[in-house]
Amino acid sequence: MRKVIFITTALLFCQAFFAQPVQERTEQDATVYICTGPSSKCYHKTDKCKGISRCGKEIVEVKKSYADSIGRKACKMCYKN
Ligand SMILES: [Zn+2]
Repeated sequence: MRKVIFITTALLFCQAFFAQPVQERTEQDATVYICTGPSSKCYHKTDKCKGISRCGKEIVEVKKSYADSIGRKACKMCYKN
């Protein structure tokens, strides 16, 4: 048990040490594209993505944090890295 706590603490320490809150905030504020169609479950980095071009409805620009909040997942084609 002590080992688990140690690992958790080490992880937290590493995260605190390497965390880049500014970059994270920028990412949350990043503009992403979502299709308003009912079958759409992803958000896209660009509206030129093949995945979003199949959208039968409107393509709207939103903040990544909003896309996350409505349960959208990152598009595998846009975010493969
Ligand atoms: Zn995409």
